[in-house]
Amino acid sequence: MSSVIIVGGGIGGLCLAQGLERAGIEFEVLEADAGPQVRDQGYRLRIDAMGQRALRQCLPPELFELFRASCAVSGPARFVDPQMNPLPGRRPESWRKNAGAGQANGDLSADRQVLRDILSHGLEARIRWGRRARRFERGGDGVVVHCADGAEHQADLAVAADGLHSPLRRQWLPQAEPEAIGALNLYGKAALGGVDPALLDGPTVVFADGFTLVIEPMRFRAPMETLAALHAPDCRLSPAADYVYWALFGRMECLGGTFEEAGGSLRRRVEDAARGLHPSLSALLARTEPETIKGREVRMASHVPMWPTGRLTALGDAIHAMSPAGGVGANTALADAAMLAACLAEGDVGQAVARYEAEMRGRAEQALAATRAGTERLLRRA
Ligand SMILES: Cc1cc2nc3c(=O)[nH]c(=O)nc-3n(C[C@H](O)[C@H](O)[C@H](O)COP(=O)(O)OP(=O)(O)OC[C@H]3O[C@@H](n4cnc5c(N)ncnc54)[C@H](O)[C@@H]3O)c2cc1C
Repeated sequence: MSSVIIVGGGIGGLCLAQGLERAGIEFEVLEADAGPQVRDQGYRLRIDAMGQRALRQCLPPELFELFRASCAVSGPARFVDPQMNPLPGRRPESWRKNAGAGQANGDLSADRQVLRDILSHGLEARIRWGRRARRFERGGDGVVVHCADGAEHQADLAVAADGLHSPLRRQWLPQAEPEAIGALNLYGKAALGGVDPALLDGPTVVFADGFTLVIEPMRFRAPMETLAALHAPDCRLSPAADYVYWALFGRMECLGGTFEEAGGSLRRRVEDAARGLHPSLSALLARTEPETIKGREVRMASHVPMWPTGRLTALGDAIHAMSPAGGVGANTALADAAMLAACLAEGDVGQAVARYEAEMRGRAEQALAATRAGTERLLRRA
């Protein structure tokens, strides 16, 4: 029987943990966050058919049903110019219809914190919160992970699921460092009250000069505790009041320059981007609670390198970070996790990892290519 250390309890790492739990494989999760709610994680994730299949495979049925029930109810998306005039021809190929908006197996819009609560459920004894991995070394037939607090964890296999800035990837595959693509991502949440009702029917995608603004109302079927009581009564979900999610994705120079050189508050950058937008759009951005505004420089893997299969592998952003343009970062992380869990359930660790890596590489290269094309479209100048 093999044992696995999962480094990183984010979307992919926790999905793998659920899959291993179902398969009866010994594992523990090392997560740098001190606890499940230490930072605001409440942005929305569109979970496509691939992500939904992975979740169905890894989660117990009642938790999968809770996941579906906890997603926002949304209508059809529309694609507009900065004055809200329709631009139907700009619909990105990667944008699929929402479930319930004309497509039975359409995308679902999940709140990231709620999804992480669901993915952590039942694994409380296996997740080591506040344990930041620093480096690894090969030892005997397995691997040892060394943590910032001096703890050492040994297993047959370690999985780097520690996201964009993975220290394990930096040590192991320094050539795979994701590259800055000259773009920024700013995102936040606003309360529903006072928002133009036209923005509350479904997602709105605004194509502006050098940046794109995505807006999506996150309206839930019922309070999260009611949904949990219906599907998985022991599962504690973070309360998620309805909100409007928005995200700006744009060329660095169109969203206020680099963080190091330009400084300035995130709110100021958002206000500057809002000038010239239709009053309903700028009013929505102005209504955003400032503490919910987050920003990051967008980094992307150029490709997934080759390496000799061994006792360390990787999934998700740790090995194929993508720009948000394709909307597939979380979905490929989930698909990686489900595939790795299925391979490990079949037995021999070496063979399982080899099979997983071959499959993951193919999927990731496809997603990276689609994301690159999507990125160019969303950053286009008028
Ligand atoms: C605003 C925004 C919107 C997005 N929307 C979408 C979308 O709609 N659809 C989609 O598919 N993707 C979307 N993405 C991308 C998606 O969030 C990521 O691709 C996805 O979270 C990657 O999952 P992961 O498990 O690889 O990494 P993460 O979810 O980032 O998890 C990594 C985990 O590792 C932990 N960690 C980090 N370092 C260490 C360490 N040294 N030791 C231990 N733990 C560590 C972190 O705390 C974190 O919990 C979006 C991203 C953003 C920012």
